[in-house]
Amino acid sequence: MDINKILTESGLKCTAQRRQVIDILNKADAPLTAENIYEKSSDISLSTVYRIAEKLVEKGIVTKNTIRDSDKFYYELADNKHRHYAICLGCGNMKYVDICPVHDLKIDDFTVTGHKLEIYGYCDKCAGRAAV
Ligand SMILES: [Zn+2]
Ligand SMILES: [Zn+2]
Repeated sequence: MDINKILTESGLKCTAQRRQVIDILNKADAPLTAENIYEKSSDISLSTVYRIAEKLVEKGIVTKNTIRDSDKFYYELADNKHRHYAICLGCGNMKYVDICPVHDLKIDDFTVTGHKLEIYGYCDKCAGRAAV
C-alpha cells in the first residue's frame, strides 16, 4: 500500500511519524490501542500517537471502535477489508480471523447487508489457566 498517496490524497503532510503509525496499523494482526501503537513505534510519544491517530480518524484513513465492554478505543485501517476478531477473555488480546462463518448467510424475505461478529475464548497462554 502507498502510504504517501493515502496521506496526500487526504490533504495531510507525509510526516515520518504519520507514516509510521499507518505502517504499524497496516502490519498489525489485530486492532490496536494507542498504547499498542506507542509500544511498537520509535521516537513517537504517546500523546503524539493519540494526536496522529485522531487526525487519521478524522480523515477517514483509520477507524476507531470500542470492542466488547472495554472502555478503550481500538484503531485499525479503514481499508474495508472484511475481518472478524477472536478475543481472549483472559487477557483481552485480540487477533484477526481470516474466515467468515456467516458470509453466505441467507435469510428468507430479508436482504442481508452486513453483520458484526466477535468470537470469544481463550488464547493459548490463558487456556491453561482457564482449565484450572
Ligand atoms: Zn489470553
Ligand atoms: Zn463476516
